[in-house]
Amino acid sequence: MRDTLVLNASFEPLSTVTLNRAVVLVLQDKAVVEQAHPGLRVRAAAVDIPVPQVIRLCRYVRVPFRRQAPWSRRGVLVRDQHRCAYCGRRATTVDHVVPRSRGGADSWLNTVASCAEDNHRKADRTPEQAGMPLLREPFEPTPADAMLLTLGQSEREALPAWLARTAA
Ligand SMILES: [Zn+2]
Repeated sequence: MRDTLVLNASFEPLSTVTLNRAVVLVLQDKAVVEQAHPGLRVRAAAVDIPVPQVIRLCRYVRVPFRRQAPWSRRGVLVRDQHRCAYCGRRATTVDHVVPRSRGGADSWLNTVASCAEDNHRKADRTPEQAGMPLLREPFEPTPADAMLLTLGQSEREALPAWLARTAA
C-alpha cells in the first residue's frame, strides 16, 4: 500500500504520510478521508474506516515558507504529460533546452520531455541552432503541483478529478 496524500484544510496538497499515520490522523479527528481505496477497509478492534488515499486536515495548517519544487527528470516527464516538446509524440527522455555542455542547468525552465529520436537529433544544440522550435515553453510547477508529481501514476489517476487536474 502506498502513502496517503495529505491535503490542507484549504485542499492544497501538503505532504504524504504512511497509511498508519493517515489512519491515526482520521481516528483522532484531525483529518477526514477525501478519497479512499474502493472496497478496502481498515478493521482492527473498534476501528472500521475506509483505507484512505487522500485525507484532508480539519484545521488549516499555516505553511510559512514554501520552497521551490525540486527538479527531477521524472517530474519533467510528468509535468509535460510524457509528450515530446518538439514533435508531441510520446516522450521517454528529458532534453536540456540549453545543453548542459553549454552551461544549461538541471532546472524546470531548461528541461522538457522529449522523444529519444528528437533528443538524439537535437544533440548538443539549442532549439534555434537545431531548427527545432519548442511546441510549448517549459514552466516551473508550484510546490503543490510538485507534491502531486511525486505520486505514482496509478495514484494520480485515482485522485479526484478536481485534484488530479493540477497534477497533469
Ligand atoms: Zn519528438
